[in-house]
Order: sequence, then C-alpha cells, then structure tokens
Amino acid sequence: MTGTIYDVIIIGGGQAALSAAYFLRRANLSYLLLDSETQPGGAWQHTWKSLSLFSPALWSSLPGVLMPGGQHYYPTRSETIQYLQEYEARYKFPIVRPVKVTAVQKQEDLFVLTTTAGDYVAKTVISATGIYSNPYTPDIPGSHTFQGTLLHAAQYISPEPFTGKRVAVVGEGNSGAQILAEISKVADTVWVTRKPPEFLPDDIDGKYLFDAATQQYEAQKQGKDYQRLSLGKIVVVPAVKEARERGVYENPLPPFDHFYEAGMGWNSGWKEPADAVIFCTGYKPALDHLKPLGIIQPDGRINTQGTRAIDTNGLWLMGYGSWTGFASATLIGVGRTARQTVAELTAFFGQPE
Ligand code: FAD
Repeated sequence: MTGTIYDVIIIGGGQAALSAAYFLRRANLSYLLLDSETQPGGAWQHTWKSLSLFSPALWSSLPGVLMPGGQHYYPTRSETIQYLQEYEARYKFPIVRPVKVTAVQKQEDLFVLTTTAGDYVAKTVISATGIYSNPYTPDIPGSHTFQGTLLHAAQYISPEPFTGKRVAVVGEGNSGAQILAEISKVADTVWVTRKPPEFLPDDIDGKYLFDAATQQYEAQKQGKDYQRLSLGKIVVVPAVKEARERGVYENPLPPFDHFYEAGMGWNSGWKEPADAVIFCTGYKPALDHLKPLGIIQPDGRINTQGTRAIDTNGLWLMGYGSWTGFASATLIGVGRTARQTVAELTAFFGQPE
C-alpha cells in the first residue's frame, strides 16, 4: 500500500489508457497509470512483425499529436509503438511499469487494487486493459492428441518457423487473411472458415471504414435510416491483394469437427493433415481483474452507459470495442471516448468541465 489515495487510477498503458491520461492531465485530479508491460506500446508490442495499420497515418492519431506519414501512408507496427512511446514521453504521464492489477475491490467508496507491486487505492478507476491478452480459441475435441503445433494469432510473430510445413489458418477475419497472406509464401496452406470470406472492395481502407461508421453512428443517434455497414469484412491491404492474386484464398474448408494425431478431421470422414494450426478466432475483453466486483456478464462484458459501468459507481471502461464507445478500439476513435470519460469523471468530482 502506497498510502496515497488517487482520484483516478487508469489500469493499462496502451492507446486507450494514454488518451484518457491526455485529458486527465488538464483536470485538477491526481491520477496514475498502472501497466503490466515493461515498455510503452500496449498490444502493438505483441502483434506479428509485418503488421501495418489499415488506417492511413492521417486518420490514426491520438488526441494532441498527429501520427506522421500523411493520408497515403499506413504506419508499421514499430512506427506505431514509437508513436505511443513518444506520446507518453511528451506528456510525461505518471505510468508505473511493470505492474499487473490482479484484483479490484470496492471498500465503501474507495477502490482497492491488488497488484504485483502491492496495493493501490483510488476514488475512481478507468479500466483500459484491451483484449489482446485474452485470445479466444474454440474448444475442439482431440486437441491434446494432435502432434503438431497449435497457436493463436496473438502468439504468431513471423512466417519463418513454418517454412516447408503444412499450415491451417482458422478464421475469416482480417487477422486470418493477413497471416495466411504471408505464411502462404513459405508453406503449403489451407484456410478454414465458418462462412464464405467477404472482401471489401479494393479501394476501401480504414479511413473509409471510419468515415462510413461515423455516418452510421450519427444517423443512428438522430434516429435516421442508415445503411448498415459490415466492419467484419476483410480489408484488401497490399499483402492480401497480392495473396489473392496467387489464389491463396480459393476453396476454403468449413470448420473441422475434431483433431487427430496428424491433423484435422470432419464428421464426414474427411481428413486434412497439418503440421500447425493457427487460430485467428478473435479475443475477449481482458477483465479478470474486475471479477471481484461481480459485474461481468455471461458474454464477458460489463453493462455500460457510454464508458461508465452501470453497476459499479466510479468505474469506467475504455477501448474494448464498440460496447465501450463508438470506434473506441481504434487510434482515431478512442480520443472521443476519452474526452467524454474525463468529462464524466470531472463531473463525478463536482468540478466544472
Ligand atoms: P492494449 O493496446 O491491449 O493495451 C492494454 C494495456 O493494458 C497493455 O499494455 C496491457 O499489458 C495492459 N494490461 C492488461 N491487463 C492488465 C492488468 N490486469 N493490469 C495492468 N495492465 C494490464 N487500430 C487502429 O486504429 N488502426 C488499425 O489499423 C488497427 N489494426 C489492427 C490490426 C490488428 C490485427 C489488431 C489485432 C488490432 C488493430 N487495431 C487497429 C486495434 C488496436 O491495435 C487495438 O484495438 C489497440 O491496441 C487497443 O488499445 P488498448 O489501449 O485498448 O489496449
């Protein structure tokens, strides 16, 4: 226990946490960030090496500092990490690393945070722990009998270890399409998808998606009719385009029913051998630290109004996806929810906005 009672503790040190800190530094409140990473950059430090943003630099900025590169450049993973590193250094945010918050409990009006570096106490908490540390892998019978390598996209770094092997990539989203694109250059691949994969038109990138989603959001807010846009489709980044031209995405297989020693099996009797299976099957919010509050719903989320937790006074959640604010899982979108969150926090403390 440090003895200090902070007005606000932000759990996390990724883009969501930093954008909350950006607005908090102007409020007359004491605050601290606790991040389990050893270095700045949040989840970007763990994504695969070749990953680039699908939103151009001009539309990939946190509040206050423009991401360099302009409207036609897609920043790389390491440029994004550098941007986040410079962002937090510029504003000198009070971040303590590495500190993992393992439990958050409410004791009367205060939050007590159990961490790997002792207890911390705060009047309010913003949880911004992302999803990347909680990958979702479907439970498929026989996985323990499979002799090959099983991994999730969250553990995938680069294609070299798969050279000359037979690799199955599971999942029809952007991660699956991008990992398949590069692995198929060095390995024999199969793609396993729940439904036929859908590609966006080639000229649609992250900026278009953000604009379209903004229009959808505004129309929805004003009760107007709008054309629903599917954000789950695959963005045709250059690597995906090139792989499509090589025929990599043709004839995907339906989900398999079980594993056998040397690969995947279907109830029809069909079998496909594989040396490795990579699950690109998504993530769930990393909320284990909030379990003691008893507010996590069966779907793994928490009931919120905007970013404010409905069932625990003094708790906000940022960056997990649209359920914590429109486009809040993107660099450009999270600033808006951060501004709103800090406005609510200052009101909570009875300060003028
Ligand atoms: P994170 O970056 O995950 O940060 C959370 C931080 O909290 C981490 O540092 C973590 O270590 C820490 N933490 C977790 N649990 C605890 C705990 N219990 N105690 C203390 N600290 C904890 N976004 C865009 O804007 N444009 C793009 O083009 C884009 N492309 C993407 C492509 C892929 C393949 C993926 C996976 C994501 C992409 N994103 C993109 C989204 C973006 O990367 C993530 O949504 C973003 O990293 C989320 O930021 P965050 O701050 O919410 O979480």
